[in-house]
Amino acid sequence: MNNQVITRFAPSPTGNLHIGGARTALYNWLFAHKNHGRMVLRIEDTDKERSTDTALENILDGMRWLGLNWDGDIYYQSQFIKKHQEIAYQLLESGNAYYCYCSADELSKMKEDALSQGKSPVYNNKWRERLPNEIDKKIQPVLRLKTPLKGKTIINDKVQGLIEYDNKDIDDFIILRSDGTPTYMLASVVDDHELGITDIIRGDDHLNNAARQINICLLMSWIPPSYSHIPLIHSSNGTKLSKRDGALSVSDYKKDGYLAEAVLNYLLRLGWSYGDQEFFSINEMIEFFNIEKIHKSPARLDLKKLLNVNSHYLKEKNDDELIKLIFKSERILFDKKLEEKMKLIIPHLKTKSKTLNELSELIRYLYQERPIEIKEFDFNIYTPEINDLVTSFKLSLEKIDNWDLMIIRDLFDNFLVNTNTKLIDIAKPLRIILTGSIVPTGIYELLLPLGKAEILNRISDYLNN
Ligand code: GLU
Repeated sequence: MNNQVITRFAPSPTGNLHIGGARTALYNWLFAHKNHGRMVLRIEDTDKERSTDTALENILDGMRWLGLNWDGDIYYQSQFIKKHQEIAYQLLESGNAYYCYCSADELSKMKEDALSQGKSPVYNNKWRERLPNEIDKKIQPVLRLKTPLKGKTIINDKVQGLIEYDNKDIDDFIILRSDGTPTYMLASVVDDHELGITDIIRGDDHLNNAARQINICLLMSWIPPSYSHIPLIHSSNGTKLSKRDGALSVSDYKKDGYLAEAVLNYLLRLGWSYGDQEFFSINEMIEFFNIEKIHKSPARLDLKKLLNVNSHYLKEKNDDELIKLIFKSERILFDKKLEEKMKLIIPHLKTKSKTLNELSELIRYLYQERPIEIKEFDFNIYTPEINDLVTSFKLSLEKIDNWDLMIIRDLFDNFLVNTNTKLIDIAKPLRIILTGSIVPTGIYELLLPLGKAEILNRISDYLNN
């Protein structure tokens, strides 16, 4: 028997990939990789009204960005409706499903009556043992599963432990709608079976569904998969996560300059831990991931923590890769000369930024078009004193032939002695003139990638202003 682990990530393309979904995908991916198995991507697109191509693209982009690659082709649930229906009719034939001819009005009355008697508003099994007459047949029936009336349904959940449901609380739920289309409850189980899914890892909002889905498996004599229901992510104050709590979509984090490895690492640790280790490489994630160690209580989103994790990964990231990301995110054409300039400054600036966007902004001075736009500061560079000082600095600079860090240092040393000036008095205005803002690194390092000619031009722009 083939006992390879197969997990699945099964998003509905009705909205963007949010961080909860991404974490579910990550845990599925890690579990599959840890067990030398496979992860299938199943798009649950049967709700044609609410499914959109934009949402689908967003989900796929987010997964690709995070490196959560799936195995094999994408499985689109809507292409397998025939298979879902086939199973529904098998259940009907084996006497494990039945047609229900209740009208919508009747069902809502049934609900009201149950509530008024203090009972739970579940279907009252009216059609479980009844055949329709000619009048009943005017209604297009739904197909319901005949769930057991007695006993218990037990879920041996790897995260939640042993969960028991009294079968009397599990209603005869709908498996085919009156138009013949399968419900999520049925389609999901049939697909899991068809795909050979061994392990279902998903949000604990699906725990109740598991109790129903196991019953479909049992009535079909299929071995139910193993379940792990992970607690949802809550906001920092413990309430349900909403848009107000900050960016929820993975694409927002990408847009805001977060690194994929930082988001992955943060998501991994959101609800799972391994001693007090903070940061994990992908290989360590796979090696140490253990589903039983997922916390049972909801994780809380902490955006400050995520920012710190991001700044850690930014510092760690290889300079060449960062440069590539900057070219891409800033949408600038690749240019070897600019790349060389970036290489000189990036080690100094990446330690001062928390996101890729912050870093890109600091680096922008290298390729800004002249005249440089000077931001408003409380420090005024347009005074006669500064003008004179910068003019004489320009004269000193013009005399230089070669260009490296030592030469720049000597240039400043000589200039300070000759003009009896303190470094800050020339460095501060120069920094503004050359970058238009305050790029927070030593003045020598700042000048080096710009080169002599460009510095002279920018100084002239200022003097001619
Ligand atoms: N399509 C469902 C969702 O997006 C997932 C169902 C499942 O994992 O069984 O919530």
